[in-house]
Parts: sequence; structure tokens; C-alpha cells
Amino acid sequence: MYTAVGIHPSDTRFLSDINTELDRIRQLILDPASKCVCLGEIGLDYHYPDTDKPRQMRYFEAQMQLAEELNIPICIHDREAHGDIMEVIRRYPKVKGVLHSFSGSPEMAEELVRLGYMISFSGTLTFTNARKPREVAARIPLDRTLIETDCPYLAPHPIRGTLNHSGNLVYTNRTLAEIHGITEEECARVTEANALRFFGIKA
Ligand SMILES: [Zn+2]
Repeated sequence: MYTAVGIHPSDTRFLSDINTELDRIRQLILDPASKCVCLGEIGLDYHYPDTDKPRQMRYFEAQMQLAEELNIPICIHDREAHGDIMEVIRRYPKVKGVLHSFSGSPEMAEELVRLGYMISFSGTLTFTNARKPREVAARIPLDRTLIETDCPYLAPHPIRGTLNHSGNLVYTNRTLAEIHGITEEECARVTEANALRFFGIKA
């Protein structure tokens, strides 16, 4: 197992001193015992009406700077914040990352691919009403695509709503394989290789 370490946007409201928190994150990332391969989840979550957007933005930007300094890939959480997310990403061209459980448009995904980013799909790709994620998956190259659980959330169809776990990736992989017209084995092989390459993990 490997780890990603970062301050999630929804947790920023519990924190008091940004510099203390960033120092902790830096120490965890640099500690070999952490086996940390990624800075994340970081980003913006505008779902709830009482969200402190400037506060989330301060933590997001500070961690983008940390990722640049440590030369580590990032994992971005983007919930109903597409415009602001893209605006920050464009300002840090040296930072590379993945947009996890992607919910944006095909145009946004294509810009991210041009900027060197990966797109990751959770169980939402398999939902029977999932027109947009399927359209995105069809439009971006398979070698920029990852699959994930977002465990414990977003269990795929036909077990939607249950407690999610890694074994359920077979459903998401099956849908992605159908979209690209390849076998499940080939799709699993490519997405696994993508993950190892992206996180810099030697198989
Ligand atoms: Zn997330």
C-alpha cells in the first residue's frame, strides 16, 4: 500500500494555523515510512452553501506550491468548483496531477489532458444515468485514464449505494472497456500501468 497525504478542502474549516498544518504535511510526505506517492486530496468543494471559499482557496494554492517545491504529483478533489479549479491549475504549469472522480465536461477534460493531467473515474462511470462521464471517457486517451473506488463512497452499478471497496473496480473497469471497445483484461492492464507510471511506483 502507498499513501497520498494532503489537506482536503472540506477539512480546512477545522484547522487554525495554515503554516503549522503545511509543515506537518511536508514532514509526512518526506518521511520514507509514509510511502507517500501523492499530495492529496487537495482542491475545492463548493457543495455546501456555508462554504468558506477564500479559506479553501488559500489551502489549495499553498499545497500547489508545496507540490511544485517537492516535485510530487497531486490528487485534486473538485466538487462544483470547476472554474476555480482550472484557474489555479493553469497558474501552476509545473505541477502534474489527477482529477479524481471526475465530474467536469469533455472540454474541461481535454484541456486537462493538454496540461499533462490524468482523469480518474469512480463508480459514477457505471451509473445508468451517467451520460457525461461516459462522454468524457470516450473523448480522452486511455493512457491518461485512471479508475478508482472513492471508497467508501460511489459504489458502482449494480451495487450502487453499498459500502464500496477495491474489489468493485471490476465494474468500473468493465464499463471503461466497453466505452473503448477493448477487453476487460486489456483495460485493466493499461489503467494499472497508468497508475504505476503516474505515481512513480515500481511494479
Ligand atoms: Zn474527493
